Amino acid sequence: MNPSTDPTAPAATIDPATASADIDPAALWHNLTAIAELVAPARVMAVVKADGYGHGAAVCARVAREAGAPWLGVATIGEALALRRAGDTGPILAWLHGPEEDFEPAVADDVDVTAGSVDQLSSALMAAAACEKTARVHLELDTGMRRAGADPGHWAQLCEAAVECERSGAVRITGIWSHLACADDPADPATDAQAAVFADAVAHARGVGLDPELIHLANSAAALTRPDLRHDAVRLGIAMYGIDPGDGLAAAAGIELRPVMRLRAHLVAVRTAEAGDGVSYGFTWRAPRRTTLGLVPLGYADGILRAAGNTAQVRVGNRLVPIVGRVCMDQFMIDLGPDAPDAVGDEVTVFGAPAGPRAEDWARACGTIGYEIVSRIGSRVPRAVVE
Ligand SMILES: *Cc1c(COP(=O)(O)O)cnc(C)c1O
Repeated sequence: MNPSTDPTAPAATIDPATASADIDPAALWHNLTAIAELVAPARVMAVVKADGYGHGAAVCARVAREAGAPWLGVATIGEALALRRAGDTGPILAWLHGPEEDFEPAVADDVDVTAGSVDQLSSALMAAAACEKTARVHLELDTGMRRAGADPGHWAQLCEAAVECERSGAVRITGIWSHLACADDPADPATDAQAAVFADAVAHARGVGLDPELIHLANSAAALTRPDLRHDAVRLGIAMYGIDPGDGLAAAAGIELRPVMRLRAHLVAVRTAEAGDGVSYGFTWRAPRRTTLGLVPLGYADGILRAAGNTAQVRVGNRLVPIVGRVCMDQFMIDLGPDAPDAVGDEVTVFGAPAGPRAEDWARACGTIGYEIVSRIGSRVPRAVVE
């Protein structure tokens, strides 16, 4: 039997008593409902791509639905189908498709797909014919990010093809959308420029007879900062997980975000280092004085960025203590200080403590964004849903 499908095979994870990513559904509920209230009457599309930004897609989708999210958003059709298998029956949009991708499983399972080209529209048409169902399609426009979607110069042609498809009954255009490149910086004029291109394109689509139920442009940052860009729905990702999409954007909108993931581990060793002793690969840190080192059983294979060595901090009890030396594949060391009271088994919050460090603090320390801190947490780390 294939070990990956054998339900009796032990999971190749760290023992949950040793380390886990603790997921707090009440925090997700709080973040989502607070933002849903802020953006109403616009609706929330809860983005659970990349395994719910590392938090676990199925549990996050379930909580998001319970909190009232009428839509879910994912990147791939496979992610959408996994949500169906987990029991979700509501509207789901998938937006990233391969050039030869078969849309039939999506159409068969009532997953909305994205078309940013006439070719993708044809794929939806073919899938509709194959499963004798109407394909639900969102048209995507590139308003300036130059990542995906139809070029504005091709928009009229795409709309024309969409109208024809709708006439055949095989396709229903359920949405029109685009994505913002710079919304995390509210002062960036690129957002207004993109919004103007989008407004023109939506007007054109309506002018030729399309009548989609969902016009959507805003990500978390725009949902928080741009009431004028919320349209029918906001695609809410990072903020739902309790991480600010920019610099204090949630607080400025009157929203208190609660971290949904707390990465927890327990000290597996505690030892003394003398002044001058080198620590971890390459001895990039040497004890400046006699001190106590703690060993945390998580490493870069688990998504602890190697860049965190000698920069990021973790919480031990009511103290913040630094990571010292290089992060290894499976473990890293922290400086607990001289005469530390800590013992093997004591709990460490790597990040996600409300009082810090939060994923945002780790992002700052590692020169990245909170998105990367949580979504990188690997499959070896068990997820534990804590009530
Ligand atoms: C990931 C993603 C989002 C969510 O963005 P956040 O900044 O996490 O809110 C929204 N839309 C698209 C197209 C995305 O890829």
